Amino acid sequence: MKLPVQRFKKLKSSIFIACLFCVISCSTNAQSDDNIEDPIEEEEIIEEETEETTDAKYDISSILAIYDNLSSVSYSISGTTVTFTTSNLPNHKSPYYKDTEWHDDLYEDYTGSNSSFRLNPNRIDEQDITLSIPLHPKKATSLTQTPMGPIGISRNGVVFFNQYAAGRADLDGEINSFDQFLGHPTGTSMYHYHIEPTFLTDTFGEDALLGLLSDGFPVYGPKEGNETITSSDLDEYHGHFGATKEFPKGIYHYHVTADAPYINGDGFYGTPGTVAR
Ligand SMILES: [Zn+2]
Ligand SMILES: [Zn+2]
Repeated sequence: MKLPVQRFKKLKSSIFIACLFCVISCSTNAQSDDNIEDPIEEEEIIEEETEETTDAKYDISSILAIYDNLSSVSYSISGTTVTFTTSNLPNHKSPYYKDTEWHDDLYEDYTGSNSSFRLNPNRIDEQDITLSIPLHPKKATSLTQTPMGPIGISRNGVVFFNQYAAGRADLDGEINSFDQFLGHPTGTSMYHYHIEPTFLTDTFGEDALLGLLSDGFPVYGPKEGNETITSSDLDEYHGHFGATKEFPKGIYHYHVTADAPYINGDGFYGTPGTVAR
């Protein structure tokens, strides 16, 4: 009668081992499921954070074609920098071409609507301006104020200036010398836009991409879809984050507005490259 008892004991211990095995293997499975799930969750979180804090992933190389086929501009990419060279001659008519070598082709008397317009004594001349701009613009960790002189390059090669006249005075004294396309030349014959370049918005649309500031972030016209943007819709740098035609996944971008500060606000959102002239 000993044998059956021993057999039963053996059976009992094999059931126990089998159960033990099951418990271990089940818990191992549970653990490995967790291991599969965790990285996905982490990836999703990282992606959300990247979208909120923006940048890093921005790449402006896809829009550089707007600068193709312009006799005034050339550009090249080296590493993470795009370098523009511009002669800065506007490709539209202006009273500031008066008596210059381009007079016959590009001079036009003032045709704008400002009854207080007065031609300043300066005339347009060729420049040799080089702007090196980051190809992957990023939000800056410290603020850089815009300099006097070029702060970016519009899509016809003419430079953007900030919202100040000499001595960081407001533009009121200068606005009456803006020509029919709202640009004018400096004492060094450098034509520039402080406000909406209406030749470009007339040509490409009020919601169009108009160029880049030196920090690599794009500048758009005063409309987004059918809505007219004002400075109160924008942050202190005069931009905001959102999808655009050229960047459907969203990018930080500036808008030109009819009200001051027009193109840029309190300095660059990103870290600017360099300007040489
Ligand atoms: Zn000016
Ligand atoms: Zn916008």
